[in-house]
Amino acid sequence: MVGLTLACALGQHDFKIAVVEAYQPEDINPEDDYELRVSAISKSSQQILQNVNAWQGMLNRRACAYQHMHVWDATGDGNIHFDAADLGIDSLGHIIENKVIQFSLLEQCLQLPEVDWLCPQQVSHIDFSGSLQQVILSNGDVISAKLLVGADGANSKVREAAGIEINQSPYEQKAVVAVVKSTLRHKDTAWQRFLPSGPLAFLPLSDGSCSIVWSAENQRADDLIEMDEPQFIKELQDAFEHTLGKIETVSQRVAFPLVRRHANEYVKPGLALVGDAAHTIHPLAGQGVNLGLLDAAALAETIMQARAQGKNIASLTTLRKYERWRRADNSLMMYSMSGFKNLFSNEQTELSFVRNAGLNLVNGLGPVKNKLMRHALGLEGDLPEMAKLTGW
Ligand SMILES: Cc1cc2nc3c(=O)[nH]c(=O)nc-3n(C[C@H](O)[C@H](O)[C@H](O)COP(=O)(O)OP(=O)(O)OC[C@H]3O[C@@H](n4cnc5c(N)ncnc54)[C@H](O)[C@@H]3O)c2cc1C
Repeated sequence: MVGLTLACALGQHDFKIAVVEAYQPEDINPEDDYELRVSAISKSSQQILQNVNAWQGMLNRRACAYQHMHVWDATGDGNIHFDAADLGIDSLGHIIENKVIQFSLLEQCLQLPEVDWLCPQQVSHIDFSGSLQQVILSNGDVISAKLLVGADGANSKVREAAGIEINQSPYEQKAVVAVVKSTLRHKDTAWQRFLPSGPLAFLPLSDGSCSIVWSAENQRADDLIEMDEPQFIKELQDAFEHTLGKIETVSQRVAFPLVRRHANEYVKPGLALVGDAAHTIHPLAGQGVNLGLLDAAALAETIMQARAQGKNIASLTTLRKYERWRRADNSLMMYSMSGFKNLFSNEQTELSFVRNAGLNLVNGLGPVKNKLMRHALGLEGDLPEMAKLTGW
């Protein structure tokens, strides 16, 4: 998602780009079941995807706008409710299948004459010794480039080959994902209940069903995967307080181990990391790919500015601007997520009181609540031009 976004952004401005991808994205069929992997796409990400002309393709396939977000704590009466109308916007975001995002971006990339799509191809070796970076592909082909961007995910081979270390620690949780149908519709709301064992999110899909992300301590997550379907449905209904009535159907369940990772460097001469290759965070606020899309937009802007000023686009001086820009924002989000996770995973009575009182207090303070929400939606902060909402 992040690599194709960057390729589209730069390809539109006549940069010559090769995108190497191991797996060919497939289009969805409207009759297909919903994919298990979905992303909550923020307003700033929507803006970026609009600017690379891929947004309409997503809306034409399947995307669900949500106008409300409701968060509450299982250990008390604390709750907070966000409403798009309070912020004067049409929605707080969209839930979109990752496959839909990937295919819509690819569709745009394929229309750009300066972008070469090399797929299915694996990066098997990288040679950093010359003045150009050389990438050796699994079929033996060699690509030479001034700038190599590692957008190859959490276990980035590019990052490893460049000798960039990561700071990492497991969250000691796994996220169990599935698609469920309940007797009541989701009311265009993204729901999240904080349980002592981890957050449970119900994310709205366009046919009225929900994609769930249930983060739980490792053993509990393994149990949730292994238990039979009637037992899982019962536990899910209880954990969600029957908020959307009975759960009628549940898809296959899959669990993802959750690890916080942050690369010690995002750049080297001739090299930059973006998206999960540079950082991974807890999915509790659905920010991972949103941060990655901001990386892509910031790197594109930095490179375009350098070219306009006749500077070397791949020099360390140019690339450090990108790193300084994005590292602070990503670190802030990463530490906020760890803080939230620890605060809400604690059953101590005093903490439970503070948490519930805090949620209710913020819920009652319109301006504070709106400020929090604007930040989460990517409407505030040092945003790249491509991510800024016009007319808001
Ligand atoms: C359960 C869960 C829920 C989440 N929910 C949200 C959410 O609601 N909102 C949100 O913003 N984020 C969410 N995230 C995070 C989000 O999924 C990631 O941040 C996002 O997928 C990162 O995108 P990326 O393009 O950087 O990397 P990836 O999606 O990992 O893509 C990397 C690409 O590189 C290719 N690749 C890797 N190695 C090679 C190689 N050697 N040769 C060729 N190709 C290669 C891979 O095939 C892949 O296509 C969630 C994460 C989890 C685990």
